[in-house]
Amino acid sequence: ADWAAAVAAVGQLPPDGRVLLICHVNPDGDALGSMLGFGLGLRRLGVRRLQATFPGPPEVPESFRELPGTDLLVPATRAYPDPDLVICFDAASGSRLGELVDRLETAGAALVLDHHASNTRFGGINLVDPHAAATSVVAEELLTRLGVPLDAAIAECLYVALTTDTGSFRFEATTPAVHRLAARLLATGIRPGDISRRIFDTRPFGAVRLFGEVLCRARLEPAAAAGRGLVWTYATLDDLARHDQRPYVLEALIDSVRCTAEADVSCVVKQTRPDEWAVSMRSKGAVDVSAVAVALGGGGHRFAAGFTGRGTVDEVVGRIRAELDGAVIGGDQG
Ligand code: 5GP
Ligand code: MN
Ligand code: MN
Repeated sequence: ADWAAAVAAVGQLPPDGRVLLICHVNPDGDALGSMLGFGLGLRRLGVRRLQATFPGPPEVPESFRELPGTDLLVPATRAYPDPDLVICFDAASGSRLGELVDRLETAGAALVLDHHASNTRFGGINLVDPHAAATSVVAEELLTRLGVPLDAAIAECLYVALTTDTGSFRFEATTPAVHRLAARLLATGIRPGDISRRIFDTRPFGAVRLFGEVLCRARLEPAAAAGRGLVWTYATLDDLARHDQRPYVLEALIDSVRCTAEADVSCVVKQTRPDEWAVSMRSKGAVDVSAVAVALGGGGHRFAAGFTGRGTVDEVVGRIRAELDGAVIGGDQG
């Protein structure tokens, strides 16, 4: 990887150089945690003109509002138009940066930190490790190479990122190195119980009832995905309005759907506009859902992927169904 070039890009910043950190649209724990943790590290290095941002409305999900470093956040509309250095976090391609993608052209240098196998290497310097469990693993390695010691604030951000993307150390990417990193982060004195409760186990009562309603309408299709089964449900803007909930509360819904024993593949189809749906897909291992997502204009990891779909729910799910058999891993594709 381009470690030396990345260290040099930070080291060669002019005094008072402006640094803009960007993470992907609808930021999750890894996007925000790796970005803010790295930002706090840059601040420790003495970088003073420093902004963190993401495309779209500047709304941070409730569970991440207490993250250290949120004071670095600015709305996308106020982000430096021509920073000396731009650093992108957890985005596999420029399209995940929305309207902020133009900063890659106007910045003095562009650094990409990511862990998606599908990463298009859209920066001038690319630190992309598809084997890393989270972008925060890459961020921590770069901080170490920059000589930034971990403190509790940096560690909390990186820990949130690591636990989010490993499903609290349950997924296959949870290597010994992941646990060693977690141990270094915990050694700073952060409180894993408090952090996990805030990130994973706290939601408004309205969201609990909304989940109940949406889970009740889930459908199981045992014959889909070459007999491995598909379970799916959907949530509309009207569902959100009736329960007075923000769209981001639905991010956790896939975890309640994907536990279905009879299905390998799970989907949640979330309405974002009258004619537009954000689709989350998960697989237990028999199907490469990133292939389905890529075929439908999105991306992600083999067993966790997504895309934006247009039309009705049935049309969107119909398109997923049509791609499933071709995405069965090691299956005879006939
Ligand atoms: P989630 O279902 O949690 O939103 O996303 C799971 C994975 O799929 C993430 O790694 C994310 O990068 C990817 N993903 C989700 N939605 C999209 C999308 O609309 N486009 C692309 N390219 N990737 C997506
Ligand atoms: Mn992410
Ligand atoms: Mn990630």
